[in-house]
Amino acid sequence: MNEIRDEAVVLRSYRSGEADRVVVFWSKDHGKIRAIAKGVRKPTSKIGGGLTPLAHVEVYLVKGRGDLHIVRQASHVQRLETLHADYDRITAGMAIVEVVDAIPLDDVADSGIFALLSRALHTLDTPDFHPTLVPPSFFFKLLAYDGSEPQIDECVSCGSPGPLVSFDAEVGGALCPSCRRGRSLSADALHLLRRILGGDLAAVLREDNPPGGTEVALLASEAVERHLGRRLKVGRPSLS
Ligand SMILES: [Zn+2]
Repeated sequence: MNEIRDEAVVLRSYRSGEADRVVVFWSKDHGKIRAIAKGVRKPTSKIGGGLTPLAHVEVYLVKGRGDLHIVRQASHVQRLETLHADYDRITAGMAIVEVVDAIPLDDVADSGIFALLSRALHTLDTPDFHPTLVPPSFFFKLLAYDGSEPQIDECVSCGSPGPLVSFDAEVGGALCPSCRRGRSLSADALHLLRRILGGDLAAVLREDNPPGGTEVALLASEAVERHLGRRLKVGRPSLS
């Protein structure tokens, strides 16, 4: 793998040395890649643009030392201007790339994850959609993609059809009053969860602050944290 041409999303990037930048990508066909863009911060750089977080780019890389590649060229696939012009949309995007960055590296070269990631960023770039529930929805989709979709149609423990009154990320779903454990779950949050997981996401995202949203966001963060085994920095909503 001496040369890579691929489509990628920038998960994070940081300055290095006088004029360089180290960039962590999640690429379509090669999974997670670390690369250095030499001299990119000089005005004469010919590398091109799009090496800041949340950029959706086309990259040309060559193999460098160790696992660090070298960026020869980068260009925007799409500029995502609506996303980058709004603080809440950027925050939501950062929560998403933080989670993708935490995916263990033995899951690399998975174009399904890239598809979910780029779709989420393009959703954040759509003015009609409110950004708040995009990260929680992305987290649940990621879990579902990994075979860990939460069970919310019946009690995950005894199979009773309901009512379902709590949610436990540990057992992976909602629970009835006799099996209840984990965090309590309101009827609004359960309904919202069912809409998000059941194919009604576009309508949900058009609503400003639907009932149960804060609860669903918290459940999603807990579920994905548990799955990835670490605590999120920006992905965790506050219960205020
Ligand atoms: Zn039960």
